[in-house]
Order: sequence, then C-alpha cells, then structure tokens
Amino acid sequence: MLAADFVDGVRKLLPVDRVLTDPVDCYAYAYDNSRRIFPPEMVAFPVTGAEVRSIVALCNMHGVALTPRGRGTGTSGGSLPEQGGLALSLERMLRIVSMDPANRVIVTEPGVLNESIQEAARPHGFFWPPDPSSAAYCSVGGNLATSAGGPRAVKYGTTRDHVLGLKAVTGAGEFIRTGCYTTKGVVGYDLTRLLIGSEGTLAIITEATLKLTPLPRSRSGITAHYRDARSCAAAIVRIMALPETPSALEFLDGGALDLIRKRFPDMLPDATRAMLMIEVDGSEHAIAAASKAILDACRDPGLILAEQVADAAGLWRARKALSPLLRDVAPRKINEDVVVPVAALPEFLDDLERLVRAYRIANVNFGHAGNGNIHVNLLVNPDAGDEMERAQKCLDQMFDLVIRLNGTLSGEHGIGSEKRAYVGKEIDAGTLGLMKDIKRAFDPRNILNPGKLFP
Ligand SMILES: Cc1cc2nc3c(=O)[nH]c(=O)nc-3n(C[C@H](O)[C@H](O)[C@H](O)COP(=O)(O)OP(=O)(O)OC[C@H]3O[C@@H](n4cnc5c(N)ncnc54)[C@H](O)[C@@H]3O)c2cc1C
Repeated sequence: MLAADFVDGVRKLLPVDRVLTDPVDCYAYAYDNSRRIFPPEMVAFPVTGAEVRSIVALCNMHGVALTPRGRGTGTSGGSLPEQGGLALSLERMLRIVSMDPANRVIVTEPGVLNESIQEAARPHGFFWPPDPSSAAYCSVGGNLATSAGGPRAVKYGTTRDHVLGLKAVTGAGEFIRTGCYTTKGVVGYDLTRLLIGSEGTLAIITEATLKLTPLPRSRSGITAHYRDARSCAAAIVRIMALPETPSALEFLDGGALDLIRKRFPDMLPDATRAMLMIEVDGSEHAIAAASKAILDACRDPGLILAEQVADAAGLWRARKALSPLLRDVAPRKINEDVVVPVAALPEFLDDLERLVRAYRIANVNFGHAGNGNIHVNLLVNPDAGDEMERAQKCLDQMFDLVIRLNGTLSGEHGIGSEKRAYVGKEIDAGTLGLMKDIKRAFDPRNILNPGKLFP
C-alpha cells in the first residue's frame, strides 16, 4: 500500500483530474496486449518534463515502483505495474513541438500517436518510417521504448534508425539530453540508441527529435501464392539476395491464410497454402525494374501465381487484422516475434513445423520475412489437460532453435515480463552483468519498471 505522504505529495504536484487512486479507475491501466492484469495503486498523468521529474523524485524518496506507460498496446507486459505502485501515463503529453521540413525533423512529446506523426509529416512530403500495425493506437514513447518496427523495416529500418535525439528523466531523477539535432554527430556515447528499446527501465522519454524520410513517389504491390511454406521461404531468400530492396516483404503461412479466409471469404484462392505480400516503392522507373526482378525471384516449382496488384489495400487490412483474429482460434496465444537471418528462414520454418507437430500445438505464423522476423503464435487452451505445459516446452525449444540459427528472441516487441525467463539463452552472463551496471547507473534505487527485461 502506498504511504499517505507519498499520495499527498503526488496530489500536491498535479491537479485533481490528473491523478487516479480509486482502484476501479486504476484498473483501466492494469493491462496491455499480453492480456495479463496488474493494477497500479495510483495513475499519474504529467504534461511536462518538469512534472515527470518531480514525480520520479517522489518515487525515489518513498521507494515506490514507477511503470511508464504509453497506450498499453505492447505485447510483452512492459507497461504492466507488476509490483503495484504508480503507473506514469504519458498519454497527455500530446504536443508536436515543432515541424522542420528543411532539416527533415519533427520534435514531439511522447504521448503523440504514431499515426499523428505521419499525418503531421505527410503534407510536407515526409513520413516517419516506423510503421507498427498498431500505428493508429500506439504512442511515439512506446515506439521508442520498444524500438517498434513494421512491414517497411525491411527497407527503412526500425525506430532506432530514425531518431536524432531525446530528452528524458532518468530513474535517479536527472534531466538528460541525448544525441543532437543534426543527422551527423559523434560527440560522446550514443545514449539515444541505448534508451531506444530500453522498455522504460532506464529513463522516461519526455521529448524526441525524430528524423523524417521523404515520401516515395509511388508504391506498387505484388502478391505471390505458393502451394507450401517451403517454396515460399526459398523465394524470400532469393528476393533478399537481389540488389532491389522491397519496401515490404510479408509472409503468411497456411494457418494465417485460413484465418483471413474465415473473416474475408472471397479474398484468397483455396489452393494457396503460403503467400508473400510484397511492396515496392520509388520512381515509376525504379518500381518497374524492381517488380520485374522480384517477380522473377518469386518463380519456384511450388509457385501458383505471382502478379502485380494495383490495389492491395484490402489484403493489407486483412494482414493487419491477423493479430486480433488469432483470439478466435484458442483462448490463449503465446505470441513471439523471433528473428533469424533471412537465409535461415527455410530451415527455421521446417524445424518449427516439426516442433509444433511433436508437441501437438496449434500454430499460426506470419510476419516481416524480409527481416527474417516471424510472428510465431502458439495457440493454446490452458484448460485442456497438459496443453499449456506442452506449449511451454515447444516454446523453449523454439527459442533454442532461433539461437542455434544465429537469430534473436525479439525483433520488435521487446522482453518486458513475458520473455525475461529466456534472455539468458541469448545474452551471456558477462554482458548481462554490464547491462545491470548500466541499469544501476541510470536508476540506482531500481524504481523504473522494476523486474522487467532481466531474467
Ligand atoms: C494489434 C497490434 C499490432 C501490433 N503490431 C506491431 C508491429 O507491427 N510492430 C511492433 O513493433 N509492435 C506492434 N505491436 C506492439 C505495440 O503496439 C508496440 O510495441 C508499441 O510501440 C507500443 O506502444 P504503446 O504506446 O502502446 O506503449 P506501451 O505498451 O504503453 O508501453 C510499451 C513499453 O514502453 C514503455 N514506455 C512507454 N512510454 C514510455 C516513455 N515515454 N518513456 C519510457 N518508456 C516508455 C513502457 O514502460 C513499456 O515497457 C502491436 C500491438 C497490437 C495490439
């Protein structure tokens, strides 16, 4: 239970409509897309960096756990107040501070939605490349803290590649500025890249200087339908070996296609058991050359049909709806976002199929194949005998497979609480020790998102 003088302290800092303590109100901040529930004892809504700093100082003084929160769409439990305490919701820090087309920069507060950044940049001929499927609902702060990415990461990279600098408040309550306003700069350690992906364990981001990219002149789509996942995976390897880089290269397996068929009955031919959704962008000339090369690389004995599509908007909407549709298959989904080197994708998909068969677990896979980033979903009914136990064993072996293939456990969702038990598979003890030292330097009393990220 929170000490009365801590509660009074926060109430003195913020007006009454920016503090919640009623458990019913606080419950609305107890979830994220991991579907676990950990209610905070208090929710505070700062609107300035100075307010964030004062709240952090109070939490330090009273030893209260503080969990930063954007819009709670994260899938790995990062924004869940596992130890109670205070949820710091950044959702009201909603100002776009400046738009600077000549320098290709937009400066923003952390609560602004990803989609609002795109809307602000578009009239000037720019976009911010991180494109999670949740763009309409997730905040820039959450994108930064998880280094979010999406389909276009194959050509444009992830959040980490599109940030020039940050303002933040460390767990010790210090204001820090990282990076610079220019696209070149090598003064000091790169704390910007350190904070990006740190999942709210080191500092609370209060402002970000984002690097914008010119909008491509046009875009065009290709779809390729295959009889099986193996031929589809072989085509992915050939496409990524080309000098032409697609701006999206998404893979859908038979299970994912069946889900789309159920919701959108006439969208896909019956014979298709694996599919690529490819996007190419640039000038008309560049698109024509790249499309030809990619269509050639799609050819395979298992190919049913590969074609340029003028309007793939419906299919993209269906692709983006896949994550929620999985809830129709089983009450619980173990949703991973592992990455393997692209050339290892055929072996990964083969071995994964063997694993899910051996453990008798329903499985749907789709994802950002151009990065080797596959959303592996193990779909489980926790009330069905030993199904959960089998799924956990399958998961453990799937992570071993990823590491053996020189991959990584998470490409975009982060570790949070969901994956922390497995971090030791990827990061050795010496490196983890150094990461813990860094955590102590930023957050000596371990108040920021305590318990997250480390095994
Ligand atoms: C339907 C659906 C589709 C999705 N698709 C994608 C996808 O394609 N790609 C992808 O990368 N992700 C995807 N996600 C996951 C999620 O949307 C992203 O991780 C997103 O970046 C989280 O943003 P948020 O504002 O909801 O953050 P939250 O979930 O609130 O928080 C995420 C993490 O960031 C920390 N945090 C939040 N704000 C700050 C801050 N200002 N300072 C410090 N730490 C902070 C939190 O403590 C937590 O650890 C999807 C989620 C859903 C539900």
